[in-house]
Amino acid sequence: MKQKELLAQIDQQRISDAISEAEKSCSGEIRVHIESSLRGKNLREFAERTFERLGLTKTAQRNGVLLFIAAQEQQFVILGDEGINNSVTPDFWDQIAVHLTEKFKAALYTEGIVEAIQSAGTHLCAIFPPHASDVDELPNEISFGTGEHEK
Ligand code: CA
Ligand code: CA
Repeated sequence: MKQKELLAQIDQQRISDAISEAEKSCSGEIRVHIESSLRGKNLREFAERTFERLGLTKTAQRNGVLLFIAAQEQQFVILGDEGINNSVTPDFWDQIAVHLTEKFKAALYTEGIVEAIQSAGTHLCAIFPPHASDVDELPNEISFGTGEHEK
């Protein structure tokens, strides 16, 4: 599916609202990134580069989560920063990605993304409760990529 077509199908406002809502109950940061195509590159490596590029390794408590979507390939990966990863089983993020794959197959794009945000958020908030001085460290809007590494 082309990125353009996917964009026409999803409700961006609902997605960033879901991020804002999830971040209200915790200090962690959630970002959604939609890449047009992997162009033959490895999904996880591409996501890891994007993770860094979007500043997810720069949060104070290292508690950022990235939901990476490759539109063309309809592949997904969820990455958590080091503050979170020692508290999740290795397949925790993969389970969310599997669920998202099913939603995409059923053409429930926005719903799938919102549910993935909620699942990640529930876990994030359990280990990183909100604190008084919490700030929104990273934007809640979807980020978009053109299929090229920007470096
Ligand atoms: Ca925050
Ligand atoms: Ca945020």
